[in-house]
Amino acid sequence: MKLANVAGRAAIVVGETVVDVEAASGGAFGPNLPEIFARWEQFVAAAREFDTSGGRPLSPSDLECPSPSPRQVFAVGLNYRSHATETGMAVPEVPAVFTKFPTSLTGPEATVSLSSTTVDWEVELVVVIGIGGRNIQESEAWNHAAGVAVGQDLSDRTVQFAAGAQFSLGKSYAGYGSVGPWLVTIDELDDPDDLGLGCSINGELVQQDRTTGLVFSVPQLIAEVSGIVELLPGDLIFTGTPAGVGMTASPQRYLVNGDVIESWVEGIGTIRTHLAAFPSE
Ligand code: ZN
Repeated sequence: MKLANVAGRAAIVVGETVVDVEAASGGAFGPNLPEIFARWEQFVAAAREFDTSGGRPLSPSDLECPSPSPRQVFAVGLNYRSHATETGMAVPEVPAVFTKFPTSLTGPEATVSLSSTTVDWEVELVVVIGIGGRNIQESEAWNHAAGVAVGQDLSDRTVQFAAGAQFSLGKSYAGYGSVGPWLVTIDELDDPDDLGLGCSINGELVQQDRTTGLVFSVPQLIAEVSGIVELLPGDLIFTGTPAGVGMTASPQRYLVNGDVIESWVEGIGTIRTHLAAFPSE
C-alpha cells in the first residue's frame, strides 16, 4: 500500500489515482494521518477490505509530508561507509543520532528558502514508525515500521559545524526535511534492506548507492534508538546519506537559488526540492 497525505487528508495511491481513506473505509478511519498511525495494526487489517475503485487523479502538487506531525524525528550521521570515507571521518561504533525538529518538515514538491551560501543536499531513506515501543528487537524491527519514504535532509553546513557541532539546528530551517511522495508499506518491497537511492541537481546525478551500504541497518537503528527513547506512532527516522554531498566535492559545491534536487528511492518514488533565495535577498 502507498499511503499519502493529499492536501491534509489520508489517501491511498492506486496507480495514477488517489482514494480518500475516510470514504474508502466508510468512515471507520478519518482523514487524520496521526490518528491512523495510532491505530496502525487495525488500519492495515481494515485496508485490505477498502473499496479503492473510483479514485480521483493524483495531483503531485497536492502531496504533503506523509507523517505531518511526528512527535520525534531522528536522523543519523555518517551512516554509509561511502559517506564516512568521503568526509575523512571514522565510521562510528554506535549510530550518530541527532534530531531534525518537526517544524522543518515539508512535502515532496517543496520550495525551500536557502539559509546561507553553504546549504548541502543529503538523500535518505526515511522510516515512518507505525507501532511504537521500547527495547524493540532487531528481528522485530521492520514490523514496527508503517512504511518507508524518500527524504531530503538539507543541511546548512556552517550552522551544523558551529560551536563544535549543532547538527539539529543546522538541519532544521523551514523546509529542510522534505519527505514523500508517500509512504510505502514494507510488504510492497522485495527486500527492504536493499533499496537503491540517489539524487540529482538540475538533472546531474550527484548521489547514488544502495541501502546495503548502511553502516547501521534500519533494524539496528530501531533497536538502538528504542533501547533509549520510546518510539511513537508517526515518528520518523532519517537513516543517513551516502557519498556525493557538496561539502566533500572538489571544489566544494553548495545549493543556489533556482536549483532543483530530485531525490529517489527504488520502490518508493521521487521527490523534488526547489531552492529559492533567502527571503531578505
Ligand atoms: Zn542526513
